[in-house]
Amino acid sequence: MSNNKCLICANTSFEGLLHLEQFPILFGAIPLKHKDKVKKYPLTVAICDRCSLIQQVNLLPGSVLDEVYRADYYSCPAPTGNQVGTRVIDEFYAFFGKNIADRRGRVLEIGCFDGYLLTKLQKDHWDVYGCDPAGQTSIAIQNLGADRIVNDFFTKDTYPGHYFDVVIFRHLLEHLYDLHSFLDSVLLLLKDDGCIFIEVPNIDATLRYGGFGSFFHQHISHFSMETLQLLLSQHHLTIERSDETHVLHVKAVKSKSRQPLREANRSVVTNSKKREFLERYRAIEKEIARIFTDPKNKKIAIFGASAIATTITHMIDESGRQKIGGIFDNDSTKQGKFIEGIDVPISSPEKIKADRYDAFIIGSYIFIDEIFTQLLKLGVDQYKIITLAQEALAP
Ligand SMILES: [Zn+2]
Repeated sequence: MSNNKCLICANTSFEGLLHLEQFPILFGAIPLKHKDKVKKYPLTVAICDRCSLIQQVNLLPGSVLDEVYRADYYSCPAPTGNQVGTRVIDEFYAFFGKNIADRRGRVLEIGCFDGYLLTKLQKDHWDVYGCDPAGQTSIAIQNLGADRIVNDFFTKDTYPGHYFDVVIFRHLLEHLYDLHSFLDSVLLLLKDDGCIFIEVPNIDATLRYGGFGSFFHQHISHFSMETLQLLLSQHHLTIERSDETHVLHVKAVKSKSRQPLREANRSVVTNSKKREFLERYRAIEKEIARIFTDPKNKKIAIFGASAIATTITHMIDESGRQKIGGIFDNDSTKQGKFIEGIDVPISSPEKIKADRYDAFIIGSYIFIDEIFTQLLKLGVDQYKIITLAQEALAP
């Protein structure tokens, strides 16, 4: 891994964490026309020896991923037209509301996607702006106006300097190849007394629940609160408020002191933490192998057309894949599409009633309870339902 450089501290030595030999560049639901053309690449995740950032190494050329982000098939639910995924945004909205007090002003969301959050903030009398290269951003333009929404990648020249009171980026930082130039650009736009709100997946939660299906090419960095704090401090940003669940919510402001934080302690990712993660990961792999080789399981269903489903289908062999008789998802935009490598289309859960399955795998960690309850209501035998994370996530 000698050509790799830590995205926070520029160190060049890493310790390996996980390696997948061939993983498709598109995970989750894929339209039929793309289904048999998805390219596969190796995926390697490692830990920086100095600052302990967990990040992808041997990175793909940025252009490969940019093409994915611009495309209409990028696997991400659009909550505006579809109630799926709203809970996660509502949790961010609650964190934002609690920590912004009565302040109002001009707010920018970088990576605003379909504009679900900005529409809520506009109702709260914020002067809202957004930018995102995704196809679904046309919904935000429709609802908020082309003068407020830029359907393209964010650059330092997209907006005037010192323009915004608040800049929000949710599930964006972990996708970036150059964290420092991005934060430099954000700081140019922010008023001196402005603040930044960030949401990223929490790698500590991922490690705790085993993380099977949580690694794919789109996620370059995997932050813990410690490594996120280290990154922000290098840009003279101080974390003022935060909370930590399966994601990290952070409010950061420009520091009064110009003293950057010292590097995170290497022991943050201790050997025992790494070992426990790998044990859980291997246990999930073993459980999946058991489900698919059990002769009683002739027809298996997966609930959740996500990265977990894609990871499962790339772990098992062709005879295992033949056993997958159904893939279900509540997101209507995924229905009729496909998981790479599987020939049955993704269906509405209502169709579960029409068929008999020997096992149901819940392909989600954060919606386990909701899906379990839904399956019971649909008449599925509870003993056929299999969850992958034994340990429930912290609330
Ligand atoms: Zn580092």
